[in-house]
Amino acid sequence: MAAVVVVGSANVDQVFRVDRIPEPGETVLSTGFANARGGKGQNQAVAAARAGASTAFIAAIGDDGFGRLTAEGLAEDGIDSSRLRTLDGPTGTALIAVDPRGENTIIVEAGANGRLAPLDEADRSVIAAASVLVMQLEIPLETVAEAAAAARAGGTTALLNAAPIAELPDALLANLDVLVVNEHEAAHLRSSSGAAELTELVPTVVVTLGAEGAELHRRGGDVVRVPAPRVTAVDATGAGDTFCGAFAAALAEGAEAGDAVRFAVTAASLSVQEHGAVPSIPHRAAIDAALA
Ligand code: ATP
Repeated sequence: MAAVVVVGSANVDQVFRVDRIPEPGETVLSTGFANARGGKGQNQAVAAARAGASTAFIAAIGDDGFGRLTAEGLAEDGIDSSRLRTLDGPTGTALIAVDPRGENTIIVEAGANGRLAPLDEADRSVIAAASVLVMQLEIPLETVAEAAAAARAGGTTALLNAAPIAELPDALLANLDVLVVNEHEAAHLRSSSGAAELTELVPTVVVTLGAEGAELHRRGGDVVRVPAPRVTAVDATGAGDTFCGAFAAALAEGAEAGDAVRFAVTAASLSVQEHGAVPSIPHRAAIDAALA
């Protein structure tokens, strides 16, 4: 039985290093290339597992080499993939060109992620048995809403990382316990919902603030600001996902929300010191060492 269950996306990122991003009609040679596991759902599942939580991942991959690469990677991280479905067509893929200044252009093919629907009885049982459900918005919104409803029915804490930005139906918001957003997503949600405080929508809200750390807002409570340790950041890809997975793992262990934010800020600050998304996600021993 998993303590954390993640419902979400799995991609393979095809990363091309280039001297400059090509203009329309132009071909440039790559100076380096790698396939890397990614997608917000997969990043968050890996972050929860490496932070020490027994973790299950409900996701869809395609019937292709990238799907097999994804399944192998999940197994290496000890993630329960028994609810992973293999669908016809491609695995989610991101084509990324990065220049020496870190500017990038990205094309995303949602592939199987776009067809992760509907959830079935076995999925609902895994969600109901877990302590914490983690969701993001790279899969159909109806599936996210179904997962949140299953969490509510099973007494599981439902956490949504509202990224990428989307309009959130009231029925989904009503089933959430925790919202994690960055500053842009927080501003968008406030303006689109008309809420003065996001805690009017969801009782516990965490706003991540990049190098400044994160803020915990609780309905009727004081705001807790947790600064990030000063580190040399080389690549922020997946920092937000590392935060969400580590935060969920701490909540599943019974940590109080403020302590869970401190744990997650520390985990995310480790991830920005390494390149890539999945490769940069820290293990529990490193997080504990940084906290000590
Ligand atoms: P991304 O899209 O890059 O994954 P995000 O926009 O979702 O990130 P951020 O608020 O930028 O989220 O970062 C998430 C967390 O990562 C922060 O709360 C912080 O703990 C950590 N972090 C990000 N940048 C830095 C940094 N330069 N130094 C230390 N910690 C950082």
